[in-house]
Order: sequence, then structure tokens, then C-alpha cells
Amino acid sequence: MSFDVRALREQFPILEQTVNGKPLVYLDNAATTQKPRAVIDAVSAYYQGVNSNVHRGAHYLSDKATAAFEAARATVAGFLNADREEIIWTKGTTESINLVAQSYGRERLRPGDEVLITALEHHANIVPWQQACERTGATLKVVPLREDGSVDGDAFYRLLGERTRIVALSHVSNSLGTVNPLDQWLKAARDAGAVTLVDGAQAVAHFPVDVRELGCDFYACSGHKLFGPTGIGVLYGRRELLDAMPPYQTGGEMIETVSFEKSTWNQLPYKFEPGTPNIAGVIGLGAAVDWLNQQDRAALAAHEDALLASATEQARAFDGLKIIGDAATKVGVLSFLLDGAHPADVGTLLDQQGVAVRTGHHCCMPLMDGLGIPGTVRASFSIYNTLEEVDRLFQALEKVRTFL
Ligand code: PMP
Repeated sequence: MSFDVRALREQFPILEQTVNGKPLVYLDNAATTQKPRAVIDAVSAYYQGVNSNVHRGAHYLSDKATAAFEAARATVAGFLNADREEIIWTKGTTESINLVAQSYGRERLRPGDEVLITALEHHANIVPWQQACERTGATLKVVPLREDGSVDGDAFYRLLGERTRIVALSHVSNSLGTVNPLDQWLKAARDAGAVTLVDGAQAVAHFPVDVRELGCDFYACSGHKLFGPTGIGVLYGRRELLDAMPPYQTGGEMIETVSFEKSTWNQLPYKFEPGTPNIAGVIGLGAAVDWLNQQDRAALAAHEDALLASATEQARAFDGLKIIGDAATKVGVLSFLLDGAHPADVGTLLDQQGVAVRTGHHCCMPLMDGLGIPGTVRASFSIYNTLEEVDRLFQALEKVRTFL
């Protein structure tokens, strides 16, 4: 394979350390990805040479910060194939979904209307809709899963009805890695007259996303899962919808005029960006996307597939290990349980050997309840992981088995 994972890895300084006396094996990428030097340098260069408030004009540094801030918006718009007015900066996926649930959901939902989600969703794509339904008298409907951890497509079509106003779906499940076949479902949702939101938190780092080709109305993702900083996220929204929506939060920046009697709103995207934004975060995210755009994404995806295939094969051969969610289309995640062992204990014993995984419900309590388990051990892979690290996971699991 022409892809050189060693060379790529060298760009991520955090990976060079040892943990508990062992070289770090970082397999918690679904929680957050590590940052390449290009991102760290961009954030540092901003604070060292540019730091200033944006859109307040009138001096050199402010103009420079504003130019970098808006250049990052154009970069992210290009990355998702959106227009720059359709890219709203948020704190992350969670805030992006809350924005839509509160501004669009609470405004438009009526008693008897339905919001359709799936049993795979992260709490961030459940609770905001539950709240919107409670406030408006709408009903939350949930598409169940099949045995293998994929969403039951037949049930999706059955539950999609004439009262469905909003369909909110994850692109990729954070706890099982399942990829949802959104092309067909989004089209069906549109044909049914529903507005669609995609939770793309776990998708954008793994494969290219084109919001126009997907045909969704809203797409939410987080910078920190895309090799960028924490505290910065993206909401893509179709311009006609954003234009018609009321502001989510109010204050400075998002206004056109203010008087004590009445205020009017700024144009897109600023209408949804009150207050001083996370300028360093935006610039860091722009650098992350620029960096990712320079990589051979097909080679990265092939490498990640090879990591998951090796992990899955070794997991299947491992005595007493049960894979949770073994769907045909998955990216980046191996969730599992070891016979007789609590996931938290497995995680602690792996950590002692330098292997970082996540254990628990992964912000998917209803999913875990549905599966009848307290949680899983989740190993999640990214582009800088190596096949040797996958082997290290299973060597460490062999030791865990002897301890338990
Ligand atoms: N949705 C999914 C599928 C996620 O994996 C996450 C993060 N674990 C979120 C939403 C929330 O993202 P954030 O915490 O960055 O807002």
C-alpha cells in the first residue's frame, strides 16, 4: 500500500508518549481525535500574532482575524459542499442539534406532529427532540434496530408517515460504528414532506460528505472529532430554512438594528452567531480541514477499513468476546463485551497497558437498554492507528483475560 501511516503519525505529536510505561495506543477516536501539528501551529500562530476580535473592523489585527475566520468558513463550506452563508459556527454537534430543535422544532411542531429518530442515536440527537416534543405536544417516534445493530429500514418506512415533520438521523453510530444508508432514507423523508437533520459527528473524519448530494436540510458535526479543536462545531442548514427560522440565542453580532422597542436580525450566517465566537477554534478547524483536504482520503479510508477488518477478525477468534453491533456497513468502531467482565474493569486493565479505549453507554443509554447490556468496551480507530496497535489491543486483552 502506498499510504505511509508512519509518516502521517509523525504529524501527531501526542502519539509519541508512553502511558504506564508502554507506548500509548490511542483507540478512543470516537470520543475525540488527536490534532496534527498543522492545527496546533495554526491555533498557536493565531494567539501569537493575530489575536483580536472579529467583525469589529477598524484596525489591522481585527481585519486579519476576521479574514482568517471567514476564510475558515469558506474552507468548511467547500468541505461539505455548502454555501458559506449556510455554515453556522456552534460549540459542537450538541449545540448544532439544539439550535435546530429549538429554533425550527419548537416554532414549527404542533400537537400530533411526529419527530422520527432511530434507536442508535447519541443523547445529543434524542434529548433536544424529546424536549421540543414535550413543549409542543408532538410525539417522538423511534426506528428500532435489527439483531446486527443496523437500523431496521422496513420499520423506518413504516414509521415515516404524513404526520412526520422532522427526521433526525445519525450518519454513523458512535457506539457501534454502523453506517446508515441515508441516501434512500433522506429521499423518502423529503418525499413525505419532512425536514431532515443528519448528526454527522462520527462521519466527517471517515469519509467525504456532500450535503447537496445527500439531500439533507441540516447537517451537524464537531471540530474535535475532525482533527480540530474542542469547542467549535458546525451546523449546515439549507438557506431557505435558515432564513425563515427565528434566532436561537440573541445578543451582540446577530442583530442588524436594536432599539428598546424592537430589534432586527443580521443576515446569514451571523443571525445565528451571537457574541464573540470561538475564533481560535474556527481557525484551528479551518486548518484541520485544509490538512485533511491535502491527504489522499481514499487511502485513509482504505487504511481505516484494514484496521477495522483486522480488529473484527481478531475479535471473532477471541474466546469469550462478543462483538456488539456486527452490521455489514461500519466505520471505525469495534464495540464488544468480554464474558464475565464488566466493561469498566476491562477498560482499566487496558489502560494499565497503555491502551486507551472508552467503556460504558457512550451517551446511548436507550440503545444499551434495548440491547439489554450496561455498556460496552469501545475501541475506535483513526487514520494514524497502525495494524500493530490493533494487535497490541488483543495482546492486552489476552492479559485482561488472565487477570479476570
Ligand atoms: N452525536 C454523535 C454521534 C457523537 O458521537 C457525539 C459525540 N460523542 C455527539 C453527537 C456530540 O458531539 P459533541 O459532544 O462534540 O457536541
